Amino acid sequence: MKEWEYQTPYFVIDEGQLAADYGMLTHALDGAWNHYRIGYSFKTNSLPWLVTFLKEKGAMAEVVSDDEYRLAVSLGFSDAQIIYNGPIKKRDSFEKVLSAGGIVNMDGRRELDWLEALCAAHPDQVFKVGVRVNFDLEKRCPGQTTMGEAGGRFGFCYENGTFAEVLRRIGNLPNARVTGLHLHSSSKTRSVAVFEAIAEMACRLKREFDLRLSYVDLGGGYCGGLKDRPQYPDYFPAIAAVLRMEFAPEETELIVEPGISLLSKATTYVTGVVDARQIGSERYVITDGSRFHIDPTMIKSSYLFRLALHPENPAERRTLSHQCISGFSCMEADRLFEYEDGAELMEHDRIIYENVGGYTMSLSPLFIQYFPDVYIRRAGRLHKVRKHWTPREYMANSARYREEDMWDQEDGKGTKEA
Ligand SMILES: *Cc1c(COP(=O)(O)O)cnc(C)c1O
Repeated sequence: MKEWEYQTPYFVIDEGQLAADYGMLTHALDGAWNHYRIGYSFKTNSLPWLVTFLKEKGAMAEVVSDDEYRLAVSLGFSDAQIIYNGPIKKRDSFEKVLSAGGIVNMDGRRELDWLEALCAAHPDQVFKVGVRVNFDLEKRCPGQTTMGEAGGRFGFCYENGTFAEVLRRIGNLPNARVTGLHLHSSSKTRSVAVFEAIAEMACRLKREFDLRLSYVDLGGGYCGGLKDRPQYPDYFPAIAAVLRMEFAPEETELIVEPGISLLSKATTYVTGVVDARQIGSERYVITDGSRFHIDPTMIKSSYLFRLALHPENPAERRTLSHQCISGFSCMEADRLFEYEDGAELMEHDRIIYENVGGYTMSLSPLFIQYFPDVYIRRAGRLHKVRKHWTPREYMANSARYREEDMWDQEDGKGTKEA
């Protein structure tokens, strides 16, 4: 089989699966709330091929830094196709997206200062903004949120009156309008109930502050591609049922910002066994993959995987009670899983991890081995869409020993006298 010819480790994104999952999302939205936009969460995985694929399907770019904003622009998104979120925006890109009619969800006091200055500088233009709301989701969904009772740190707090104060401050500007709410909240459970609670919060804010909203942005945080867990067709009818109490699709657009739920199922990571050794009572299977590539924050306790035993290795294998599958790095913690009561693994066998599209490539470090190859699978064939990084890419933005190679500032080359 061809599979053995590819240099491991590598990621594969199945284009057909990705298209099917995107189709499931649009189909679910079409049925539940036929006025929507999808902003793909760049931070989840901003591989240029992937982002461009989703752009072709009509997704906007959901970005949370100036670097991500500039990547989106480099990949052909116009400023009007950007959703700009998060507390670390830069003023220049903030103004560009806002002026072009893209979506800016305000998150922090300095953005209010920027907005006031922009409104004053362009009195003949109307600026429409969204506001990121921080609210006590844990109280509504006990035990389900990521931060629990400590609460999240993003957006303007509803409970202590900051959100109301922000509405007042923007309301004082003759040429600014709050036209959207952003309610992204991360949860451990990603349950439908969490999204119903978020939708209820949108309704409550509309009632309490008598808002006229052209959009409600629910953010991301959906499940996708996992057995016995919710999927897009479970979320959106439930969300729509709540939103309909206060909103109508004709007037208010739903914005969703999926990340991991779109890519999980489509993405696999293929690793090869390079060695197996016995040390004390433990059998170590050393592979050329790494936990840093698929679990860079070291939080997973299990992996979905399958094996492909090399055809030239003996087909008859001993069964071993446990084998410790470990990664290429020198860190002892780089152990992926215990393979229990399975066939003895040998050099050249493959271990293939499933559902590894989100928060893997984007969080990988440049530790010991550089970024691996990425392929897409199209009509049964693999096409390379990212080449394994080499020392050349690694060194591209670095100076060496000579002073004339160093930078004083962003663009000027060469160190000058202080
Ligand atoms: C991280 C994030 C997302 C995407 O989250 P997923 O869990 O990958 O779906 C969407 N919106 C915002 C604001 C985020 O911070």
